[in-house]
Amino acid sequence: MHTERFAPSPNGRLHLGHAFSAMLSHDAARAARGRFLLRIEDLDRARARPEFEQAIGDDLAWLGLAWPSPILRQSERADTYAAALATLRSRGLLYPCACTRKDILAALDAPQEGGPDGPVYPGTCRRHPPDPAAPHALRLDMAAAIEALGGAQALPRLAFTELEEGPQGERGAQPLRADWLETSCGDVVLARKDGAAAYHLAVVVDDAFQGVTHVTRGRDLFPATPIHRLLQALLDLPTPLYRHHRLIRDAAGRRLAKRDRDAGIHELREAGLTPLEIRARVGLP
Ligand code: GLU
Repeated sequence: MHTERFAPSPNGRLHLGHAFSAMLSHDAARAARGRFLLRIEDLDRARARPEFEQAIGDDLAWLGLAWPSPILRQSERADTYAAALATLRSRGLLYPCACTRKDILAALDAPQEGGPDGPVYPGTCRRHPPDPAAPHALRLDMAAAIEALGGAQALPRLAFTELEEGPQGERGAQPLRADWLETSCGDVVLARKDGAAAYHLAVVVDDAFQGVTHVTRGRDLFPATPIHRLLQALLDLPTPLYRHHRLIRDAAGRRLAKRDRDAGIHELREAGLTPLEIRARVGLP
């Protein structure tokens, strides 16, 4: 069955950008007579707050969205993520990394543009394993992962489907490219130093677990999708179809952020806007 999900992180209230994403996804599920799920991505324990989860639910319900209970919370799924990490580790695809952000920046020869997760990790702990007693993250050994999938030549056989448009107008089948994964993503973190699973791992495990067939999310996440496709292949998980949508911007053309109070759903609702007027504001019928 066509299954969509909206997966907010409860570290702030929703703004017009989130509402647009959730409404697009909900509309698509409805049009296909499918399911729309809400998933709370609360792995960042330092930033996630129950009051934000509550407020997100209130705002979505006020917008007219409905979803089945119980909802899935990533904070309750540690064992499942640990099992996926153990699978990857047993295949020699993960390594511990004790570097701090400062260590990483200091080890880079030149300032970088950065990939989906910021600066590409220079591989320090892959070459010199850290003291096992030191707090460490787990990183994917990208070169080893590519080899495990048959090597660079075989990789383009793995693709994800873009139903809408990537930042450079990408549409349709998007084959994975080993060179891009190695130079722009590198050894991404799959388990954080605090022991929690990292976003890329949790999202692919949960999309599969929930039977998500269609991922509707902002175009800013397009560069993360090859990593997700790669992890799906490594973990033998099905791959959904992806629809990366345009981003909602403020009057100055900047992407909305949680600090933009005047675009907050709660604020707009207090100011007397109706859900239909919110739809109109983001260009939805
Ligand atoms: N939790 C992510 C966010 O708040 C979205 C993840 C996704 O849609 O894949 O940006």
